[in-house]
Amino acid sequence: MSKINGVAASPGIAIGEVLVLEEELSYDRVKVEDVAKEKIKLEEAMSASKKQLTAIKEKVKAEMGSEQAEIFQAHLMVLDDPELISAIENKIEAEAINVEAALGETIEEFATIFSNMDNEYMKERASDIRDVGDRILRNLLGLEAQSVADLEQEVILIADDLTPSDTAQVDKEQVLGFATKIGGRTSHTAIMARSLGIPAVVGAKELLEAVETGTTVIVDGVAGVVIVEPTEEQLAEYQEKLADYQKRQERLTKLKELPAETEDGHRVELAANIGTPADLDSALENGAEGIGLYRSEFLYMDRESLPTEEEQFEAYKEVAERIDGPTVIRTLDIGGDKELSYLDLPDEMNPFLGYRAIRISLERTDIFKAQLRAILRASRYGQIKIMYPMISSLEELQAANQILAEVKEDLTKEGFDFNRELEVGMMIEVPAAAMIADLLAKEVDFFSIGTNDLIQYTTATDRMNEHVAVLYQPFHPAILRLIKRVVEAAHKHDSWVGMCGEMAGDRRLTPFLVGVGLDEFSMSAVSIPEVKEVIRNLTIQQAKEITDQVLSLSTSQKIEDFLGSYC
Ligand code: PEP
Ligand code: MG
Repeated sequence: MSKINGVAASPGIAIGEVLVLEEELSYDRVKVEDVAKEKIKLEEAMSASKKQLTAIKEKVKAEMGSEQAEIFQAHLMVLDDPELISAIENKIEAEAINVEAALGETIEEFATIFSNMDNEYMKERASDIRDVGDRILRNLLGLEAQSVADLEQEVILIADDLTPSDTAQVDKEQVLGFATKIGGRTSHTAIMARSLGIPAVVGAKELLEAVETGTTVIVDGVAGVVIVEPTEEQLAEYQEKLADYQKRQERLTKLKELPAETEDGHRVELAANIGTPADLDSALENGAEGIGLYRSEFLYMDRESLPTEEEQFEAYKEVAERIDGPTVIRTLDIGGDKELSYLDLPDEMNPFLGYRAIRISLERTDIFKAQLRAILRASRYGQIKIMYPMISSLEELQAANQILAEVKEDLTKEGFDFNRELEVGMMIEVPAAAMIADLLAKEVDFFSIGTNDLIQYTTATDRMNEHVAVLYQPFHPAILRLIKRVVEAAHKHDSWVGMCGEMAGDRRLTPFLVGVGLDEFSMSAVSIPEVKEVIRNLTIQQAKEITDQVLSLSTSQKIEDFLGSYC
């Protein structure tokens, strides 16, 4: 038995057998007599791979939408590449070697050519080629294909890292939980795990050395630990914890139809964060009253070109129609840990401090305008609101609003109907914006505090870096003071203020946030019932007292201990 510590990324407990992703595949290089036989094996493995990929593509398309399915279309194109096929066949023939070696070596040659190219998009193709090569090799070796989308048995996924797109394809029925070596609580992989409701631990450094496929592990997504080869007693203890956890979830589900209001009638709004329309089911199941953050960038990811205005319009309309409440669509927030290969963004020393989000939109007005047009056109179908990410100055906000005004004028001239009263807001996730919230509040209808980035920028702590995870402190007095400042500034100018960073879903902080006057809380859908339970057991007077106490404390630890005593 060994216990590996990581970061609690998504609550819940999973007990099961491990599937390690991206194990090194090995094969021998041997001389063969019968090259024709090797070529037939290649043909068979290629056609098996094609069948698997087509099935996965269809499944992902039906369950998650066409953007997610694009990645498999790209893989199918690699499989059909005549140059690749003839290069492998030529190698078998010229060197009289086995198909596994000819395949492995040719794939590596092709992938190397792509990864040496200057263009980011082409570089990305190298990993597609290696992925496809891996699949063909698995079929040749008679090993099961590794895909998180088409698993045949229940597993716990263990990997160095899972990309947000890996996570988006995860088969919820079969993946009991997952653990990765890389990542922090607010890395996008962790956020997606929470929106899928799968227990997860990230940043578990010694993980890969400790397990192999088939090892039994326990993933405790509440405490942030992975127990490898648990003893009988530990298994029994965790079976009990799991049963308790499930019972608690059942109790919380009963709160679904009840309002988020304190004992004495102070009402707030509880909304969900979503990445794609596929997350709507979970939002509705958990009783979200609206969508407080629609991370529109996921519409732009895992594809080969920008989504058209029409595609975006359809996606926004779908969300607006399905949600009987507000939908806050955040404009493109690419950069940081979210890449768009086809935009060919520059490599940067500090991507989180670089060319990202609104900074890109204000320069690439073609992209920004197409998105604003799609959002405005969809605004007829529900209570859509627009929100800008990463604003750090009044000039940026005014420039964004100016472009929005131009787009409205264009649409009016073209005869489109849209909601002219549509609310416009911005995220407060840069300390500079928090400090000038009073100036910004005059130009928007609302703020939403993005604590994931606000913590990283205020405490100078990379949200992705597990080595500094202890410094990434939501309880830091500086963060709590900034929140208070922003809420007061918004209310003074009759704007409402929400929070869509992960702090909004941390039940320990709920009394503080209610007491400080937050109007809307938007979070991973699975956290909504827990937060609602805390709110319904409070009075506004108690919440305000807790807030005052918290603001008088001097360290993160004191604040965390104090708030912990209420949960
Ligand atoms: C945030 O920064 O708090 C936020 C909600 O945005 P994201 O996590 O997508 O950066
Ligand atoms: Mg952010």
